Amino acid sequence: MIMIKIGIPQALLYYQYYPAWQTFFEELGAEVVLSPLTTKTVLAEGSARVVADTCLPVKIFLGHVIALMDKCDYVFIPALRSVERKVYNCSKFLGLPDMTRAVIPECPPILEVDIDINRGKRQLYQSIYQVGRRFTWSPLKVRRAALAAWQSHLGYLRLMSTQKLTPPQAIGIPASGPMLKVPPPAPVLANIAVIGHPYLLYDEYINHRLVHRLQQAGSHILTPEMLTTGQLDSATISVVGGAYWTYEREVVGAGAHYLEHGADGVIGVMTFGCGPDSVMMDMVRRRAAQLGTPFMCLTLEEHTASAGLVTRLEAFLDMIHRKKRAKTCA
Ligand code: SF4
Repeated sequence: MIMIKIGIPQALLYYQYYPAWQTFFEELGAEVVLSPLTTKTVLAEGSARVVADTCLPVKIFLGHVIALMDKCDYVFIPALRSVERKVYNCSKFLGLPDMTRAVIPECPPILEVDIDINRGKRQLYQSIYQVGRRFTWSPLKVRRAALAAWQSHLGYLRLMSTQKLTPPQAIGIPASGPMLKVPPPAPVLANIAVIGHPYLLYDEYINHRLVHRLQQAGSHILTPEMLTTGQLDSATISVVGGAYWTYEREVVGAGAHYLEHGADGVIGVMTFGCGPDSVMMDMVRRRAAQLGTPFMCLTLEEHTASAGLVTRLEAFLDMIHRKKRAKTCA
């Protein structure tokens, strides 16, 4: 039997939802094909399709779609408007299927799903059924696949928060496999929280292997996914009184939590020209200043060079290590 191949770009929402999407499509009998990791070519291909001031993660996403051409029957591109009542996603996510269609006309057919929780459960089920209908006419089968996907998503979140794993580490673990405990590097010189969108923190091409470099320098890394929803919620409420943007928890909530719970320093990662992030990072910066904890914001763009980033990291870590030494001697 020939299986339908569904292409999934390893960019943007991939880091949050891949296990759920994979489960959904495989339950419906499809084969999931992933785009390769981000490279210079992937970025160049994506950049060539859009105006210069389009944000870096969207350019990279388009490059991943191009990398999937000829490898799949459909490309899966959800339009994620809202996954929680009155909490909204960045506008770039809303028009992603339309934008892709417009700038990559030769793209394989796009399998899209409109997720907007504000429109009610009935609308949500209908949107999911529209996708499932490509594989089966049975609403029961689609329902079963959707429930399995939901369980897979919950398991993925639980795995990351209980085992303190990053999304790439958790994705690499089979659902039924043994729990993997990743030990912190020894000796740990500092606990460094790294906050920002998952597509910035875990795409090693965009961030010039930031997490790896920090670990090599003896830092124990703390990321937003290692916290529970409850921890993120209460920290977000303490700063802004409730989330408006979808990513407010991952940026403001994670930043505030780690600032108050033992991080020696916080690094915020954002991209040039991102409106929501510039506001959210500023809130974390202010909270860090109040608490006297070192905070550094790294703004990435297409032309960011590794050398500049390494110099800033070294200076930041050096300041933290000296501060810790001074505290120990006092
Ligand atoms: S949140 Fe910022 S970086 Fe992410 S897609 Fe929107 S504009 Fe781009």
